Amino acid sequence: MRVFITGGAGFIGSHLADYYVAAGDQVTILDNFSTGSKANIAHLDGKVTTVEGDIRNVDLVESLTKDADLVLHMAAALGVNTILESPIESISTNITGSEVVLNAATKFNKRIIIASTSEIYGKNPKQPLSETDDRVVGAPQKIRWTYSDAKAIEEAMASALHQEKKLPVTTVRLFNTVGLRQTGRYGMVVPRFVHAALKNEPITIYGDGTQSRVFCHVADAVQAIVTMAAKDSTIGDVYNVGGTGEVTIKELADQVLAVTGSQSQITYTPYSEAYPAGFEDIHRRVPDISKVKAAINWVPTKDLKQIISDIAAQ
Ligand code: UDP
Repeated sequence: MRVFITGGAGFIGSHLADYYVAAGDQVTILDNFSTGSKANIAHLDGKVTTVEGDIRNVDLVESLTKDADLVLHMAAALGVNTILESPIESISTNITGSEVVLNAATKFNKRIIIASTSEIYGKNPKQPLSETDDRVVGAPQKIRWTYSDAKAIEEAMASALHQEKKLPVTTVRLFNTVGLRQTGRYGMVVPRFVHAALKNEPITIYGDGTQSRVFCHVADAVQAIVTMAAKDSTIGDVYNVGGTGEVTIKELADQVLAVTGSQSQITYTPYSEAYPAGFEDIHRRVPDISKVKAAINWVPTKDLKQIISDIAAQ
């Protein structure tokens, strides 16, 4: 099988490339090496075709899509820091770029998986979050919600193309996916805490640490994605993919200290100093994963301790 991965040098995309290369498939990666990196795929040199380019380049995306059996659209501008620092580029990549990729898949009638996000749900207090739950978001001038809106537009395009043009698309909403090759540079909390712990530097909790998340090991997320890609019964549908075991950010910090044996101090930074004015944190985010479990008989297998120790080992 020929697999085309947009964002294939990124955190999740590179793990998908590993999977398909190991399975004997032909993998082509398109990446602009913004949040992705050459280091993430250096071990795949000679085993994959790598194209440096932008997902907004219609001719390029069409030529790569035409030659593929399966398209995995993983490219996005993401991470709190990225979207805050480069809002124009982030909006354009996530909306225009996704439209280009989805249109190319439609033009050549290719099976496609798109990576969406739990940010779709915004600050909906109803937990756990199920696929049909409302989006509760703030003003579009607040960039966190613009990221959520952009990904929602992408989902809406996928859904419309499925309905009107029979695009064989599955939408995967990823919840706080963590693992090897994820950097803390873009704001993600687990690599930030682990890297600080390994250097015995302070671990900085934003707010009071009572906010909570459920983290999912990238190996589990990859297993869910590749299983869905192989199952036509998932076409036209949307699935949450996330872990189990809700933790507060304070509990996460404590676990990172315990697993790494670090001497780091835990410090607290008020939201007003951690984020620009108007940035809202999400107090609680818990995925309901019953739908994906039922659809593909998948369950997350790796707990938070495993996630932390894998990041610490990289
Ligand atoms: N967070 C933190 N310290 C950090 C980075 C993040 O306390 O150095 C908090 C952040 O405010 C949020 C949680 O950890 O409450 C998860 O943040 P992340 O950006 O990883 O994911 P998201 O908010 O998108 O779930």
